[in-house]
Amino acid sequence: MPRVQVKNADAKAFPREFALLHQLGGSDSIESEKLVEAFAIYGDAAAVKSLVEGSDAVEFDAFAKAFAKPSQSALVEGAEGNCLGWAARDSSGTLAPYKFSRRELQPNDVVIKITHAGMCHSDLHTIKGDWGPAKYPVVPGHEIVGIVTEVGSGVSKFKLGDRAGVGVFVDSCRSCAQCGKGEQIFCPKLVYTYNATHYDGLPAQGGYSTHVVIADDHAYTIPANLDLAGVAPLLCAGITTYAPYKDHGLDKPGLKIGVVGLGGLGHMAVKFGVAFGCEVYVISRSKAKEAEAIAMGAKAIIPSGDADALKAAAGTLDGIIDTVSAKHDITALTSLLAPRGRLVMVGLPPQQPTLNHFDMILRNLTVSGSVIGNLAMTQEMLDFCGAHGITADVEVIDIDYVNEAMVRMEAGDVKFRFVIDINKSLIL
Ligand code: NAP
Ligand code: ZN
Ligand code: ZN
Repeated sequence: MPRVQVKNADAKAFPREFALLHQLGGSDSIESEKLVEAFAIYGDAAAVKSLVEGSDAVEFDAFAKAFAKPSQSALVEGAEGNCLGWAARDSSGTLAPYKFSRRELQPNDVVIKITHAGMCHSDLHTIKGDWGPAKYPVVPGHEIVGIVTEVGSGVSKFKLGDRAGVGVFVDSCRSCAQCGKGEQIFCPKLVYTYNATHYDGLPAQGGYSTHVVIADDHAYTIPANLDLAGVAPLLCAGITTYAPYKDHGLDKPGLKIGVVGLGGLGHMAVKFGVAFGCEVYVISRSKAKEAEAIAMGAKAIIPSGDADALKAAAGTLDGIIDTVSAKHDITALTSLLAPRGRLVMVGLPPQQPTLNHFDMILRNLTVSGSVIGNLAMTQEMLDFCGAHGITADVEVIDIDYVNEAMVRMEAGDVKFRFVIDINKSLIL
């Protein structure tokens, strides 16, 4: 493959194609096979063929032309805005195209052309109003990865063409006591990625959209060896399950850990536990996912509805990470904990849990909660994933499939995270 001659201005003028160039490996090193593979997904066969067979150096314009796709802005006729997303308008949760504006680049900002967005169960809870009325219209998505296409004058952390990630929050005040301690997740002015309002008054909208603008200190760098689609879920499912191991000292080899619910969060909790050298058991509604759990390194599945299996495992686990998204019995889980065992709740069902006082007190158990993770730990988690080759198991979909994917997620029918290929299927 010839070298693609790219100028800085091309990034802003053709963000999607510029991002694609970097998805494929950058301007110096796209292999012909990769390019031919990519055109089947992203581009125009004839134009790509002439690129592959062409001269040693190709103008970026020719590359961009080969991969250009028609804009879908017409789907939202008459709407103004510099960003195209899919939004829920009411608690039916149905998503449909929506045009809106992100802020213009500020000196400390980067613009990230989104390539992939993971679908978290929190997206579904929010758009359906499970946790209370949402600020409709809501563009969900807080597992965002992409390529930097604009860099503010004060930014040194990123350069054009870098891979970057955005998680569950996009801003914090940087001046309160919690921010001072690096505990951004407790900042009273924390700005969540969607269903929230930016400091300038603009609605914060999520990653089921074409680009995001964010201060560089709230965006993450992504290890070069990891596949972008598999990285997206790390930005929420990854950090939310990595943090409990670290914060509760459960990241020690030999500890017996139970992971409840083998969904998006659960499968990441299994992968981290295995990487820390723990003995991991999955507590799932059935044994249906046992082969996958074992392939991830888990020892076995304990079916949560099987009284004999629960009895056999009683009092054996040092820690439990509970990722279940719906109402379930916490007392059945605490019965599995060894003395001084810890259960960390990360799943957020709309109903409140019940505890068994005797179980808790007679074995000095701890039940705790954990919300995503701070900036520093999120970056640490991504670097850990780079070092250990960890990514999420994903089913990559087009944005047009998003409503069906929500139904399947609710039914637990996903192995193990839906990720939307934004660069393929959502074109501004
Ligand atoms: P998910 O992919 O849908 O997985 C949830 C899993 O829970 C399912 O795979 C299923 O596992 C189990 N489950 C579902 N319904 C159940 C029921 N009625 N009874 C028992 N088990 C059931 O969801 P996710 O994206 O991993 O998110 C999980 C939860 O964490 C959500 O509530 C989400 O809002 C929350 N969350 C919290 C944080 C945080 O900061 N703490 C961050 C992100 C997400 P099995 O099929 O194996 O039984
Ligand atoms: Zn999430
Ligand atoms: Zn703060």
